[in-house]
This record gives sequence, structure tokens and C-alpha cells, in this order.
Amino acid sequence: MAYDPSNIFARILRGEIPCDKVHETEHTLAFHDIHPQAPVHVLVIPKGSYVSWDDFSAKASDAEIAGFVRAVGEVARLVGVDAGGYRLLANHGANSHQEVPHLHVHIAGGRPLGPLLMKAG
Ligand code: 5GP
Repeated sequence: MAYDPSNIFARILRGEIPCDKVHETEHTLAFHDIHPQAPVHVLVIPKGSYVSWDDFSAKASDAEIAGFVRAVGEVARLVGVDAGGYRLLANHGANSHQEVPHLHVHIAGGRPLGPLLMKAG
């Protein structure tokens, strides 16, 4: 899938629409999810143009990958979910119901989160 530069997170990165920023590095931006599904629900995105985890893991540089992994951990500590525990989630493609075609890792926490996946309907 080709990267679509009109996606909403690309627009946030370009400053065309606002976000509630939590953290920023050379390679990453983190901001609160607009429709939080837990008391803490933050999204961490790379600044590079990567559609999803599949794209990022295949094409990103070592510096981007290391920076992204470190940023996710830093953000979790920054928002205070490291002690109580948190869940990381990254959707890729149709079966995962990925809505925004720019890689993002969800950090969710602040309460017991229950089972990992919904049962198939
Ligand atoms: P996905 O289903 O692609 O893994 O998750 C996309 C997430 O992006 C959803 O949780 C949704 O609430 C969030 N989201 C969509 N549009 C915006 C936006 O404009 N701003 C922010 N902060 N989050 C958004």
C-alpha cells in the first residue's frame, strides 16, 4: 500500500491540524488519542512516512526504529502507566481494522484492560 500524505496523522505532523502533544523527538511524535478508550490512551507515531508496522519494520532506518521503540517506553513512563501496567497495540491492514494509514502504536492504561482481543463474531 502506497503512503497517502493526506492522512490525518501526516496532517498533524505538518502542523495543519492540532494535537494534544505529550512528547516529541527527532523521529517521533506522541499525542493523546482524540477518542480515548482508557483513562490513558496515547498514540506514538514516527515522523517518517510509514503506513504501518509492516512498512516501518521493513524500510525504516535503525535510528528510526531504535528511536521509536525508546520513545514508546519514555512516553509510557511520562504519562505514568509504567507502574500499573499498560498495553501496546499497533494495527496493520484490513483484518486489524486500521483506520489511519500512518503507523501508530497505541499506549493504553490507567485501569485493568481486560482480555486482549474481542471474540470473533
Ligand atoms: P487505528 O484504528 O488506526 O489503530 O486507530 C486510529 C486512532 O486514531 C483511533 O483510536 C482514533 O480515535 C485516533 N484518531 C483519529 N483521528 C484522530 C485525530 O485527528 N486526532 C487524534 N489525536 N486521534 C485521532
